[in-house]
Amino acid sequence: MGVPISQMWTVASYVLGKRLRGVKRYPLVLMLEPLFRCNLACAGCGKIQYPADVLRRNLTPEQCFKAVDECGAPLVSIPGGEPLLHPQIDEIVAGLVARKKYVYLCTNAILLEKHIDRFKPSKYLSFSIHLDGPREEHDFAVCREGVYDVAVDAIKLAVARGFRVTTNTTVYNNADPDSMREMFETMMGYGVEGMMISPGYQYEKAPSQDLFLHRNQTINLFQRILGNAKKHWRFNLSPLFLEFLKGKWDLECTPWGMPAYNLFGWQKPCYLLNEGYCETFQELLDTTDWSKYGRASGNSKCADCMVHCGYEATAVAETFGSLKAFARVVKLTVLGPGRETIPESPSPVPSAEPVSANGDDPTGTDDIRKIQLPVLVER
Ligand code: SF4
Ligand code: SF4
Repeated sequence: MGVPISQMWTVASYVLGKRLRGVKRYPLVLMLEPLFRCNLACAGCGKIQYPADVLRRNLTPEQCFKAVDECGAPLVSIPGGEPLLHPQIDEIVAGLVARKKYVYLCTNAILLEKHIDRFKPSKYLSFSIHLDGPREEHDFAVCREGVYDVAVDAIKLAVARGFRVTTNTTVYNNADPDSMREMFETMMGYGVEGMMISPGYQYEKAPSQDLFLHRNQTINLFQRILGNAKKHWRFNLSPLFLEFLKGKWDLECTPWGMPAYNLFGWQKPCYLLNEGYCETFQELLDTTDWSKYGRASGNSKCADCMVHCGYEATAVAETFGSLKAFARVVKLTVLGPGRETIPESPSPVPSAEPVSANGDDPTGTDDIRKIQLPVLVER
């Protein structure tokens, strides 16, 4: 089973409706962070470094509903922190499902078995399980042994109970393409609906700073991870975004496409950068100088960013915005990407210059270094 037709139809009619009404900036997915605390301390995490008094706080269900209603996005992703640590997460999810929002509840799955009875299977609810690779790679990325096995047990349980289940993978510079491809096979075998995969963002506050990818490294790595993809692999990402990751389609960021609402309000300008907060989504749209963001702006914080929360909304909008893009998506969907040239590894030394997004000039994974395990933190 892939993404339900009703969800595809909801997204398509929403985007086309905005285009027909001439709305230039609109949200596609609300990133709703109801808390920042977590029961893991992953090396690449940029969300759990707040002081203890902030980590103890939760958004109330009413605050969540107000943000969802104001924003109007048809999809709501609930990351964190670990949402299953929120005492009212079931109430929040039920309220969003009642609003007919398609909800992706992102979880490291450590607590899923314990809490699964608080949720009801629904076409509006997917558990999005954090998995950064096969067993060894995932446990290394989350800095705790045994988490992969817990996550896999939770996936099997949730699939058996009739829930929609997806995976959510962040790729760092120590990723091994063969291991990633092996994980795709395994997850498809477990019956997951689709896989989300994205490069990590270089959060200034992340415990390990040497694991992030430069743009040319990202393209090279994703060409090796996604090249000659098996036809039965299903990704819950736009085909154009996957082409973008492989350097075969150019996209510019739309930071308002996946806005973030959390304990402090609406985060400016996007889910990844933190340059202040607004009280309302409209204020975020009206008061942010959007020309300062995205790769074309020259902003150094955006130069290497190819993260899905900046570009997936662009990919979806472009699919319905140009015949060329629509035809490419149809071709990719029906025929797959076709035979692709997979770059060698190791590759040439990465350049600081951005590469053209035409797939002709993949460079750079010499700089790949294994990350150091940070001190384990348990909460
Ligand atoms: S699971 Fe890891 S990446 Fe996700 S919020 Fe917790 S510490 Fe951060
Ligand atoms: S390019 Fe990335 S960091 Fe910059 S605004 Fe877009 S999503 Fe945010």
